[in-house]
Amino acid sequence: MNAARHEDARTGLGATFRPLVDDRGRPIRRIQRADLLRAARSDNPGLAMLANRLRAAIRSESRRNTPDRIALVVVLVLGVMFLFFTTSAFLSMYLHPRGAGVSLLVLVLLIWGSRRLYSGYVRRGALGQIAWTAVAEGVCGSCAFSLEGAPPDADGHTVCPECGAAWRQERIVSPYWSKPAVVILRPSILPWVLPGVRRANELFTPDDRGRFVQSPDSRMRTVRRELLSAVSPEEQRTIIRAMRRCGCWWRALLTLVLLVMPAYFFYLAWLAHRHNDVIGFWILLALASVILLSIASVPMTSAFCGPHRTARVLVRHGRCGSCLTPLDGAPADDQGRRVCEHCGAAWLTPDPPPPAT
Ligand SMILES: [Zn+2]
Ligand SMILES: [Zn+2]
Repeated sequence: MNAARHEDARTGLGATFRPLVDDRGRPIRRIQRADLLRAARSDNPGLAMLANRLRAAIRSESRRNTPDRIALVVVLVLGVMFLFFTTSAFLSMYLHPRGAGVSLLVLVLLIWGSRRLYSGYVRRGALGQIAWTAVAEGVCGSCAFSLEGAPPDADGHTVCPECGAAWRQERIVSPYWSKPAVVILRPSILPWVLPGVRRANELFTPDDRGRFVQSPDSRMRTVRRELLSAVSPEEQRTIIRAMRRCGCWWRALLTLVLLVMPAYFFYLAWLAHRHNDVIGFWILLALASVILLSIASVPMTSAFCGPHRTARVLVRHGRCGSCLTPLDGAPADDQGRRVCEHCGAAWLTPDPPPPAT
């Protein structure tokens, strides 16, 4: 179980279905939601906070558009359409005239089933990825029990007292009992009023060691002031500009594709106008305008520039992708990643330092 670069090793179809193993190569089960809920109710505030951060990381990770997820959505949409059209053709032949109602029911069931399938797939991938973060912060990556006080065995493994999973001692880089996670974002109402600012519990990304850390929003509007004040205003502007550019072509493409919808309603309104349907004309015009306005805000959102990419923009600018501390001169780990001295996140920088020996 080497600590390969996160993107190569832990996303996609293979990572979602590959069985998880501990550091002795023994298959283990994935952390369950119930494990995290139990830990979140713990009397130990550090453990409870860690469990809540892990839950937020799963939520954040579930929102990411990876190629396998996009492919699955396309397959599911095509599958639902195919099944709906074939069953409704069949039903209208045999169940006429109740066929229409039954086929609507079939459509609802198909959409419900495919949503269940998709969220199950996404959650499985995210729950697998969370294991390394859990161990890094001092809980078992399989059952979320605390590893505090568990003595390492002769091979340098810490064995979970609850389920027996074995973890290499050096994986526990910032245990919750001695080094609580750095909080990056401050509470703010901005995510509810401004497009482009995500909520704090949707801003988690794995660092290049696969450990989830909180990362700034792509406009740096909700970053805690003491972290932001260490970055000069010019540098802030440069970084925010780079973040705006990230994903901008995809946002433009998405906007163009979505514009088909209001265009269609404007066309219908024009048809109503031609047929002297005054009420229909105004209803359709109002509907088209509302859709147009909501689509016009898409270029301002942070779509296609989630926490994963925001963090990489920061690292490219020589700063920690989580807490903004300069990485210049930060110590390197055994794989040539710079380890942030403030928050412990590890990043592969464009100019990798020589690996520590
Ligand atoms: Zn365990
Ligand atoms: Zn940091």
